[in-house]
Amino acid sequence: MNILLINPNRFMSPPVPPLGLEYLAGALEKEGHGTKILDLCFSDNIYNDIDEAVKSFTPDIAGISVRNVDSVLFDDNEFYLDEIRDIVRFIKSSCGIKVLVGGAGLMTNPEGVLEYLDADYAFVGPAEDDIPGFMKMILKQVPVERIYYGKARSDYSCKRVSSAVDYAKYYQNSGLAGFETHKGCSSSCVYCIEANSRVSFRNPGDVLREIRGFVDAGYNHFHLCDSEFNEDLDFSLDICSALKQSGMNIQWTVYMKPTNFNSKLFRLMKATGVYLITLTVDSFKKCSMYWSDIEKFVFHAKSNGIFLAIDFLTGFPYEDEKVLTDCLDLFRRVQPDRVTINTYIRLYEPLQITKIIMKDGALSPYLLGASGDRSMIKPVFYNHVDTQRLKELIEGDAFFRIAGEDKGVNYSTLQGKSS
Ligand code: SF4
Repeated sequence: MNILLINPNRFMSPPVPPLGLEYLAGALEKEGHGTKILDLCFSDNIYNDIDEAVKSFTPDIAGISVRNVDSVLFDDNEFYLDEIRDIVRFIKSSCGIKVLVGGAGLMTNPEGVLEYLDADYAFVGPAEDDIPGFMKMILKQVPVERIYYGKARSDYSCKRVSSAVDYAKYYQNSGLAGFETHKGCSSSCVYCIEANSRVSFRNPGDVLREIRGFVDAGYNHFHLCDSEFNEDLDFSLDICSALKQSGMNIQWTVYMKPTNFNSKLFRLMKATGVYLITLTVDSFKKCSMYWSDIEKFVFHAKSNGIFLAIDFLTGFPYEDEKVLTDCLDLFRRVQPDRVTINTYIRLYEPLQITKIIMKDGALSPYLLGASGDRSMIKPVFYNHVDTQRLKELIEGDAFFRIAGEDKGVNYSTLQGKSS
């Protein structure tokens, strides 16, 4: 079966290579399917490019990745599904093949996103293990559900097929190659679509082989694509130890959560080229241990010379201004390199925070966007912190930023500042 895998993501601040499709192509090829990745990120004419790919490759089905529904930020929110729906409809009508959609964006509302995009099938969750079989059933015209839920294995080693992705162009445009060490997250943040998702770890040897391939091709700067690197302290230490032993000279940047760390991990991260950590912090019902862990985390990063940017989500229902000012005081005391404050909480249908907000009518004045549509596919935000007041509270501290004021991610806006 020939499967055309399409990356419709044209976000440029910075551009993000289609890592998920590369792993998927590896899994499909291992099972004997033919694949072609069509990366539309830099395309001048997406419909011509789709036409040409369909004529030359003659696919039996197209798979389109939906990385995000929208840009998640309230200011200048970019909604991606309309352009993806146009692509789906073009493929179905002009090319006459069925379209399957997958990717993290589907987790926000599988049925709703499938309907919105007018696609034939949706694959939700990790696809590498189950999608080859699902494709075979479609080919044999076995009746299948329109929505299929993939299961992650407890460990997985998935090869990637990167040859169709123009990494030189990504690097020229401030993009970075990424890699994964695991999937899933065991934390239970009420605002996160990945909360309590099944965790599966890759074999460190496979991770290193993948990095080596890029280093041998002349690329040594990476972005880790795990939702948070430190899901498991022993595993994170194993990855760093293996990297150190390999002797590869790389630079990499990671997302982390304020748990599962020790001083050895920071030393190893520094020794293997980690120059920037983005730490995920929120103010939802936290105990004093949480904040003392953050103080320790900042201390370790600073004493190892690793830049630390904090992404701070706050302004949850029933929080008063004291919660915010206490957090700001803590950040002023420990002095990370940057704190980006987001007071607009993007609501998605399955989230715990959505349920909390929707069952209290007194909170409805704080809803912004398409709040009348319970599918929450079009952006809906909760906000009760006045931005002008926030500006007054952070005035005079250069390391505070308000989310959405700068385009780009921490590594692109902090580049060149690492010690
Ligand atoms: S730690 Fe990060 S990835 Fe995990 S649930 Fe919280 S926000 Fe999501």
